[in-house]
Amino acid sequence: MNVISSLGRVGNTVFQYAVEQSAVAVTITDEQARVLYVNPAFTRITGYRADEVIGRNQSLLSYKRTPRDVYAQMWQALLTGQPWSGRLLNRRKDGTPYVAELTVTPVSAPDDASEGRYYLGLHRDVTEEHRQAQVLANHKHLIESVIAVAPMAIALINSQGEVVLDNPAYQRVVSELGMAEPAHAVMTALRDDMGEAFTHAMAHRRPLHNREVRFERTGGEPCWFSCSLAWFEEHSTAPDGFYGAASSDYTLLMMHDITAARRQQEALRLAMLREHLSESEFNQALRETLGGAIFQLQGPVNLISVAAALQRRRSGPAAADSDPLLKALDDARQAGQQAIEALHAAMPPERMGTLGRVNLNEVLHDVLMLETRTLLSAGVTVDWQPAHVLPAVQGDPAALRTLFRQLLLNAIEAMNVRGWAERNVRVGTQASAERVEVDITDSGPGIPEALRRKVFEPFFSTKRTHRGARGMGLSVVQEVVSRHRGVLEIDPQHRDGCRIVVSFPVARVAAEYLEEAE
Ligand code: FAD
Repeated sequence: MNVISSLGRVGNTVFQYAVEQSAVAVTITDEQARVLYVNPAFTRITGYRADEVIGRNQSLLSYKRTPRDVYAQMWQALLTGQPWSGRLLNRRKDGTPYVAELTVTPVSAPDDASEGRYYLGLHRDVTEEHRQAQVLANHKHLIESVIAVAPMAIALINSQGEVVLDNPAYQRVVSELGMAEPAHAVMTALRDDMGEAFTHAMAHRRPLHNREVRFERTGGEPCWFSCSLAWFEEHSTAPDGFYGAASSDYTLLMMHDITAARRQQEALRLAMLREHLSESEFNQALRETLGGAIFQLQGPVNLISVAAALQRRRSGPAAADSDPLLKALDDARQAGQQAIEALHAAMPPERMGTLGRVNLNEVLHDVLMLETRTLLSAGVTVDWQPAHVLPAVQGDPAALRTLFRQLLLNAIEAMNVRGWAERNVRVGTQASAERVEVDITDSGPGIPEALRRKVFEPFFSTKRTHRGARGMGLSVVQEVVSRHRGVLEIDPQHRDGCRIVVSFPVARVAAEYLEEAE
């Protein structure tokens, strides 16, 4: 049973109505593409009535802009009995062009070979579809062009953390930083910096705006990026996602290079630091000198106190007032004590800096910049090996600067021996989940094992006093390290120089960040 007979007695009529009332333009042509039949939809689309086209070739619809090889392919298919589908540029009766989506199917009457071949043409006006697709393509092209020439580095990161799309500016960052995937380093830096707030922002797809991330470059100047994160949701293109909500999340990372502006700020900040440094150095020297004097004076005063106590016991309570030796000893102790108090009073107060989140890469970079001249004049080369990004520690930046400056000056001083050829300092940083570690390694003579504890005592120096060593450096260092809950170690395994390793706990993220991310 064929389809029409399945429609019963009225089959042919229903079939005819279906073709007549179809919304798609239907044409039937002979082998030469001469029109035998068109339905009303054809008239609606083209403007031609049936009587105007019957007997004429379908080419009357051609706008004469469709490339020849499109027709060639069409006819090649049709002549081998294959259907053909494609898009042609057609002209309506009023001369206006439209895009036609055409399917031509060769039709032959199986029981009558003499009838020859016919062609069934079905076509729709897809001008609007084409316009929308073109708008979309133009839009995509425009966005791609803007992204390609954008001065900011852009990377699209999928939910597995892989960079699936980037732009030339991002590739420039890759080569400048010598890093495989700076986007990963940015995400790590933001996570370290913001802690819970970052996890919260990621979980709730909150955008992050203009977060500054500093990258260290081995042996070179640091660079800064202002980083923003946005979210992009890609809807599934699979058919089962047609009515569903299937989608994938992407993170759009934008990195704006602010190095030039930050370098200017840094130059100004270093100039101010230098100014403050000479003042605080003077105060520090004064504190050490007065501290030394107090320390030296305290010994004799203690001895006099002991001698006075002995004398008091020997003369007995009755003779205490009349014993001239006891009186002299008491006077001497009192005078000594007053001198000590006067020295204490003259001591300039130690400036207590404000505690905050400190990036040790920045502190060390400051120290290296501040001491450039000293390093150059001592002929010391610096091998600066920072971790690209470092979690913050909690501390006083000024005190930490003093600490590392002292360690650097010690290293320079250790190598500043006449005829000492090897003069290198390696300054490196690295981080684990819990701690940030700094190591300063010099190629000097090293600290003999027997003195490794003693060097931290106040006023102890391996240098002879006439060379100006006050012997307070490492004790100040130790005090700053302890105040910051740090650990300082002279590496016992290191040979050919001295390697000092200082580590501090990673700072926990303050609650204010969490509030900010809300
Ligand atoms: P033509 O000189 O007519 O043909 C160009 C090339 O096509 C020739 O070099 C030849 O290789 C091949 N060719 C043309 N006619 C035949 C044929 N009868 N047998 C074998 N090869 C042939 N064209 C449109 O532009 N718009 C339409 O909407 C459209 N609808 C069509 C519907 C049907 C059912 C059929 C069968 C054809 C349709 N055509 C349509 C194609 C049309 O018949 C023309 O081939 C086309 O318009 C090119 O015409 P032309 O005058 O520019 O070139």
